[in-house]
Amino acid sequence: MKAFDDFSKEVAEQVDNENKRLHNEKARLETELAKVDEQIFLAEQKKRRVVAYTSDGGLCPYCFIHNNLSIEMKPIPSDSELDIMKCKHCSSELEIES
Ligand SMILES: [Zn+2]
Repeated sequence: MKAFDDFSKEVAEQVDNENKRLHNEKARLETELAKVDEQIFLAEQKKRRVVAYTSDGGLCPYCFIHNNLSIEMKPIPSDSELDIMKCKHCSSELEIES
């Protein structure tokens, strides 16, 4: 029955390999899912900051919404009738009607 033993071992090895492959795939997908969950969490926080942001405080909207930072924007000289405000942290510029 040598042939059957060999066959049996071969099948057992295939099943074992398939099992390992599926466990690895599951672990990979769980890691991927955790990353997406983290991104959803961060996106929800940004969504809340979009609602909370108000230009009254003169804070940079990009830093506030994307990085949860409160950076005050400073006016920079301009020839137009618009005031240009610049963030010293992210260098974003905003035009504000005066
Ligand atoms: Zn900024």
